[in-house]
Order: sequence, then structure tokens, then C-alpha cells
Amino acid sequence: MSLLQVDKLNSYYGDSHVLFDVSMNVERGEVVALLGRNGAGKTTTLESIAGALKPRSGSIRLGDHEVCGRPAFEVARRGLQLVPEERRIFGALTVEENLKLAAFSVTDAEPLSKIYEMFPRLEERRRSGGKTLSGGEQQMLAIARALVRKPEIILLDEPFEGLAPVIVQNLMAVCERIAAEGQTIVVVEQNVYAALKFSHRAYILNNGHVVYEGTPDDLRDKPEILHQYLGV
Ligand code: ATP
Repeated sequence: MSLLQVDKLNSYYGDSHVLFDVSMNVERGEVVALLGRNGAGKTTTLESIAGALKPRSGSIRLGDHEVCGRPAFEVARRGLQLVPEERRIFGALTVEENLKLAAFSVTDAEPLSKIYEMFPRLEERRRSGGKTLSGGEQQMLAIARALVRKPEIILLDEPFEGLAPVIVQNLMAVCERIAAEGQTIVVVEQNVYAALKFSHRAYILNNGHVVYEGTPDDLRDKPEILHQYLGV
């Protein structure tokens, strides 16, 4: 059974219809990329799944539970963590305080030693204020903060956005490691090749419709699809 099963999701901003019957599924342990041009509806899909935006219709099953239209805190409690594009870490708190705050009220949080093993750079900077971190470090902290809560599934919205290539490499290695340990991940990325490098399967969204689903190998063999929908 899929860990996440999205069926015929329709989401709006006011009167503007943005997602049209979006369906996708994610198996436990899978890394699924959600691709598409600017404005295709990727962020809207993640926010709809996470309960940050209430869909007009459709179904979202997380494990055994229907979570469509449920509030974000309830979806989070069912084991889903969204790492938003803006990262939203607390600048006035240290790295460690950010992590402890995320672990607060979680009965079975990941020990910080395990988190620091995954992100040695965060251990080095654990007493530094959030606002003093580089973009790459902030992104690591945002992902680490989600992992502290031992989620069943994490949704990453453009984790590599705006980062220098060497930082992207580093962060990608961390994501690959997290995936290798069995973490289920949905990743939205403009950087198609980065996303395909560590995902098992990909969906392409265009104007709010799912227009393609396949493995990275399938996609690499279809340059016309990459060109038509992703402009690469
Ligand atoms: P990007 O990479 O630019 O974030 P995306 O694929 O994530 O693209 P969305 O952000 O989901 O796309 O946007 C889908 C559509 O919804 C776009 O047409 C966008 O203009 C519109 N949209 C997004 N956020 C809002 C909002 N808060 N109010 C109204 N329309 C919005």
C-alpha cells in the first residue's frame, strides 16, 4: 500500500483554479520528484498535501488516514513534514535551539547526536545564531529540523534553490544519504538533473495537470518531454 496516495486533487486560490485532478502516489522508502515550470503548481501541490492550503476536492491518504482538508498540525502529527522554500528557521535562536524547539513535544524525537552525524556542519555551528548561517547551512537546518521529528515522509520545496553549485553537491549528498536510510521524500526542484539524480520516480506538472509519470531513466530517454514541459 502507498504511504501517500493523492487522488483527483483540485485546489484554488480564491476563484483561480490551480490544481486539476492531480493524482500521485508515493511508496514507503521512495524518493519522488515533482517537476514542472514556474507556476506549474508544484508548491500548491505540496501545500495542499501538508494542510497549508485547503483543497476544494479530492482525497489525500497518508497511511490509513484521510487527511485532505485536515489542518496542517494534524497532518504533521500523522508524520508528514514540509520543508518550505523559504526555510523559516528562527534567526534569533541558535542552531541547537532551533532543533530542540522542533523536537519539543515529540515523544520519540531523533537524538541530536544522530542529526549531527548526518549534518556535521550543523554540529560545528550548533551555538551559532540562525541568522548568521549561510544559505546552504540554513537549508541543512531546515531539513534537519524536519528530520528531528522522525517523519514518515518529508516534502522538500526547492531545497537547492539559490545555492552555489558546491553547496548543492554537498546538500545532495546529504539527501542521498537520508534516502538511502529509507526516508520517504517528495522533492520539488527546478534543477531537473539534480532532482532526477536522487529520485526513484518523477511526476511532471504543467498548468496544474499531471502530464507525465516515470522513472528518471524513462525521462532521460524522452528529451522531447523534458523540452516540452521543463524547457531543458
Ligand atoms: P514556482 O516554482 O514558481 O513556485 P510552482 O510550480 O511551485 O512554481 P505554484 O507556486 O504552485 O507553482 O503556483 C501555481 C499557480 O498558482 C501560479 O499560477 C501562481 O501564480 C498561482 N499562485 C501561487 N500562489 C498564489 C497565491 N497565494 N494567490 C494566488 N495565486 C497564487
